[in-house]
Amino acid sequence: MARRKQVYEGKAKILFEGPEPGTLVQYFKDDATAFNAQKKGTITGKGVLNNRISEYLMMRLEEVGVPNHFIRRLNMREQLIRQVEIIPVEVVVRNIAAGSISKRFAIDEGTKLPRTIVEYYYKNDQLGDPLVSEEHITGFGWASIHEIDDMLNMSLRINDFLSGLFLGIGIKLVDFKVEFGRLWHDNGDMQIILADEISPDNCRLWDAKTNDKMDKDRFRRDLGRIEEAYQEVARRLGILPESGPSDVQGPATMQ
Ligand code: UDP
Repeated sequence: MARRKQVYEGKAKILFEGPEPGTLVQYFKDDATAFNAQKKGTITGKGVLNNRISEYLMMRLEEVGVPNHFIRRLNMREQLIRQVEIIPVEVVVRNIAAGSISKRFAIDEGTKLPRTIVEYYYKNDQLGDPLVSEEHITGFGWASIHEIDDMLNMSLRINDFLSGLFLGIGIKLVDFKVEFGRLWHDNGDMQIILADEISPDNCRLWDAKTNDKMDKDRFRRDLGRIEEAYQEVARRLGILPESGPSDVQGPATMQ
């Protein structure tokens, strides 16, 4: 079988050339990194679960009018996506203080923020993804004012929709990170769409009753039961792989 051409390899995903022009195949690895890749590990079955979880959330978001790169799932670890030009800005939306904002402003983790706070980080591993302002983004030419406006509006819509969706299954959406890309249409029009993934790798998800962490903080902070937490998110979303995930070596809760 002809080897597919690899376009990009990131910390948790690999992108391959897709079957048609303008498409890519996004492959989800089990690799996990934290603290700008200083901590590395494997979360068995994570790629399979994140492929499903991201598929599900992207499809729901498309239904409520948030355009995104997802086309269809191909197999356990791969999905077909639209090729976009990634904007090198990570948009973080926060509802409850945790992680870096708690450290930076000495706010106890779990404190509800007075209002939702949106932050921008420059996507650059060598620099450790520094926090940036709109001035940096426009000044350095990473995105225009209109593009920032589109990203901000979509991020707030994503937050509203996902906060409700997760609360419905007993999970608090504490914060999350999203990335956007430019999609060019045949008529020359350009549209900003949601890209990358939405999964417990880039959201903080807390059980609504117990505040138990159900996300990558279990890996970052060595809390154990990491695989189980990702599975529980998928289970509550009602999307555990049906056919016996042959490459998920997790506990028997998988159907
Ligand atoms: N996040 C991410 N990728 C990054 C940095 C952050 O997906 O490179 C997510 C992270 O999982 C959390 C949110 O963005 O849901 C806010 O992260 P924070 O700034 O608190 O950073 P951290 O505590 O992870 O260093």
